[in-house]
Amino acid sequence: MNLQERDKKHLWHPLKQHQLNPESLAIVKAKGCILTDENGNEYIDAIASWYTCMYGHCNDYIIEATHKQMQQLDQVMFSDFTHEPAIKLSEELIKILPENQNKIYFNDNGSTAVESGIKMALQYYFNKEDKRSTFIAFENGFHGDTFGAMSVSGLSVYNGPFEDFLIDVKRIPTPNGSNIDIIIKQLEGYISNHNVAGFIYEPLIQGAAGMKIHDADGLNTIIKYCKNNNILTIADEVMTGFGKTGKHFASDYIDTKPDIICLSKALTAGLIPMAITSCTQDIFNAFLSNDMAKGFFHCHTYSANPVACAAAIAGIELLTSEEIQNNIKNIAKTHNAFLKRIKNHPKIKSTRHLGVILAIDLDTKMERYGSLRDKLLKFFMDRGVFLRPLGNTIYIQVPYVISDIELRQVYQVIEDVLEII
Ligand SMILES: *Cc1c(COP(=O)(O)O)cnc(C)c1O
Repeated sequence: MNLQERDKKHLWHPLKQHQLNPESLAIVKAKGCILTDENGNEYIDAIASWYTCMYGHCNDYIIEATHKQMQQLDQVMFSDFTHEPAIKLSEELIKILPENQNKIYFNDNGSTAVESGIKMALQYYFNKEDKRSTFIAFENGFHGDTFGAMSVSGLSVYNGPFEDFLIDVKRIPTPNGSNIDIIIKQLEGYISNHNVAGFIYEPLIQGAAGMKIHDADGLNTIIKYCKNNNILTIADEVMTGFGKTGKHFASDYIDTKPDIICLSKALTAGLIPMAITSCTQDIFNAFLSNDMAKGFFHCHTYSANPVACAAAIAGIELLTSEEIQNNIKNIAKTHNAFLKRIKNHPKIKSTRHLGVILAIDLDTKMERYGSLRDKLLKFFMDRGVFLRPLGNTIYIQVPYVISDIELRQVYQVIEDVLEII
């Protein structure tokens, strides 16, 4: 039996209806931008395995750093102990994060980074004897699959069965350059009628919604309004963090900085799961007390795993290197030229790009998990490119180390698919 057959016996995959779609492709190797399946077929990983492996798969520099770390200190509790990898990572992160961030809190994945952010905001007010219960979030946002993260997410395909168990969330549309007055009016209403603890948002780009880009000035106005009204702001940079938008963080495009930032995905360069919730000194201070119960009692067993910290430190070294920064600029430029060339194609409804992220909305009607989307995916895979369309949106988020030839092949399969849909 090959891997694909053996898989079906005991495994249950995420985001999958096994009755309709029982097959999972077995990948046996990944290097740079190339995934190799069990039959020896190769695919360009044009979405960096969900935006994680931004410096390429099995990156030698990351491997070397983690290999060294795992021979020195593999794992130790972070509740009573500390260690250099965590300390160094906090120092390196604070150097590149927006200037108001000062404390680093560890989590295991993007959802729990968001969960911590939500709990920090709730307990911040609880500790100040100003109990609050409501959050504000964008329509169509995605923040993860644990209960708090699911509550603030807007995609019903994930949340439907759990609706009755979610925390109270009021939604606003994303700013589009002309609706900011309406949004502020809506915020005014929510704030006067509810005890709002925080506003959570994916800054500039809503990933799962289909790489939807919104207006930076409008977002700045919303964040400022929240701050002026004593509402904490939480930037979910799990997808946008670490260079994807062309700057280290999407929040770097926005003047008013968030109180809390959630990070994961590219944080560890795709090698090991880990996440971070960073915050301002003011938030941290609200948990300082002679009363034990005012501390933040949220903990994951593998908090600050030293090997994951080593991967993250090496990742930041790569991110801030001249080579990677140049690559990011070049990919952005190449994306721009590609879109200029194809954007008037009759099958294309709209296009957008920022940094290494590029998205094309096709001019077709289809469901998020409809059959055309599956046909597109198969078309790309048959031609050696792994692209994972979201509804009628094809998007690219390539590793920073992609070669010109590989990038051209990614563009080519997209141009080819336009001719057959
Ligand atoms: C992926 C993602 C999450 C969830 O992260 P997981 O590691 O999958 O739990 C949260 N927020 C955003 C913006 C994401 O893209």
